[in-house]
Amino acid sequence: MKNRPALIQKVNQLLIKKFGIPMRSKKLPDPLDLLIATILSQNTNDNNSYKAFQNLKDRYKSWIDLNSVKRTELAKIIRIAGLANQKSAAIKNLIGELRKRGPLSLDFITGLDDHSAIEQLINYKGVGVKTASCVLLFAMNRNVCPVDTHVHRTVNRVGIVSEKTPDKTYYSLNEKFPDGVAHSFHTNLIRLGREICKPSNPNCAACPLLKLCEYKDKNLTPQLKGKEKVFMLLDSIGK
Ligand code: SF4
Repeated sequence: MKNRPALIQKVNQLLIKKFGIPMRSKKLPDPLDLLIATILSQNTNDNNSYKAFQNLKDRYKSWIDLNSVKRTELAKIIRIAGLANQKSAAIKNLIGELRKRGPLSLDFITGLDDHSAIEQLINYKGVGVKTASCVLLFAMNRNVCPVDTHVHRTVNRVGIVSEKTPDKTYYSLNEKFPDGVAHSFHTNLIRLGREICKPSNPNCAACPLLKLCEYKDKNLTPQLKGKEKVFMLLDSIGK
């Protein structure tokens, strides 16, 4: 039987050797800022969701101002992030629900364990396990590894887990996650997924995980290097 924590450690070391230790802002962002940024980032690229987030920050002094903004108006402001109707509805709903609780913040989850905090956050419309776990990792420095499409694909190909959906992958992967490595593991896997282990035609010949990867359809034909600008949205919030 596989020693999953040891395998995660090994993969983490190989990724660090290839890509380095990912940069991280010294100051953690506000969890509510991070949650809104992550809602905006769903199904779009980091550059466009960052612009949408900045549009909101430039226009409103406080998130409470969104309470009186029409949803259609909000949709216009965040249009660049795509799915504007859906995302504006999720943000309006979130702000409205938090207002009913009292102060507009996510302070109520700071004393909860990881699992309970995620259970609380996914009660809000438009907030799934990936979005909730991003808040824990990037704004609360919890040792959880969010699973987006890149992390789901790569950890399943490598053979760390064997799951059909990102949410199932999240729960398997985080069952016994080794201490202190979630941020570098998560961030470097996204980079691996974007640059090397692409959905089709992965560049296995250039992959640092080649020797331990269990994927059956490896592509070992050398490929030309493409240059891709690395911008990680969730490490840029609050800077
Ligand atoms: S060896 Fe190939 S399939 Fe395996 S992780 Fe690397 S790029 Fe992906």
